[in-house]
Amino acid sequence: MIDRKPEQQPVLLLIDDAPEIHRLMAMKLKDEGLDFLTAFSGVEGIELAERQLPALILLDVTMPDHDGFEVLHTLKENPATKQIPVIMLSATHASEAKVRSFELGAMDYVTKPVDVPELRARIQSAIRLTRLMEMLEHRAQIDGLTGLWNRAHFDRRLEAELAEMKRRETPMSLVMCDLDHFKKLNDSFGHPAGDAVLETFASLITQEIRVNDIACRYGGEEFTLILPRTAVAEAVGVCERIRKALFARTFRKYPEMQATASFGVTGMPVDGATDPAAWLEGADNALYSAKEGGRNRVHVY
Ligand code: GH3
Ligand code: MG
Ligand code: MG
Repeated sequence: MIDRKPEQQPVLLLIDDAPEIHRLMAMKLKDEGLDFLTAFSGVEGIELAERQLPALILLDVTMPDHDGFEVLHTLKENPATKQIPVIMLSATHASEAKVRSFELGAMDYVTKPVDVPELRARIQSAIRLTRLMEMLEHRAQIDGLTGLWNRAHFDRRLEAELAEMKRRETPMSLVMCDLDHFKKLNDSFGHPAGDAVLETFASLITQEIRVNDIACRYGGEEFTLILPRTAVAEAVGVCERIRKALFARTFRKYPEMQATASFGVTGMPVDGATDPAAWLEGADNALYSAKEGGRNRVHVY
């Protein structure tokens, strides 16, 4: 998924060896609300695409050195650039070229000489479609009740953050937390009361963590926090603040209700393991120990 701020003007990258095409596009598309990036060779285009993650690429098929098909192949092989929609520009109407483009992952194919109104419409359509796909992909990773990230997102992010931790050689902490005696709470106050606790707990977490931290509803009444660049002692502090805030929380609709949560924290193991399963096991063991120790507490693995 490309994390692009929606309020930004979409950036269009034009990769074409012919300067006159660049001049034509700059002139004809100047009122489209796009920012332009230009590359005159495939190599330059690939490099710009990786660095700037444009919203859309217009890619010439016939270029010396790397032709458009090779560039397209490279862009689609790279996880960082493979989601960027590509419109091929080509002088040939041959169906093999079109078929090959679509097989390689192009979104559209436009023939030169370019019919400008048609190209404009295709550009806007490609941007709209991509935004829609990004939105759907984003939504598919959000938990409906709490608005936190869901398990699918967590699994992806944990792996990515562990790789990042190793690369940067910075600490990282992983937290697993679980509401205490939640079954009993549901039984005593009803399922909507339980839901209110889940929502409240999620908002307390969100208040306490930093923007780069990742809070997820792991499932049911279990939550996970990925805290990049955070040492265990600091992570314990964050958990303590969340734990106390929940403990102190009263619910107007359910004055008798008291909710608590237990937390398990793990940091970089001595052997520096970057295996997600090992980290999860560590956090889970710490959580189990917090439960065994009497609940409403934070334990470290
Ligand atoms: P422990 O302190 O050991 O964690 O006990 P517990 O009762 O919290 O744990 P258990 O796993 O036995 O029960 C979890 C309960 O969480 C059972 C399930 O009905 C409830 N639960 C899971 N998801 C939701 C939800 O979305 N809403 C509500 N209201 N309850 C949920
Ligand atoms: Mg529980
Ligand atoms: Mg449970």
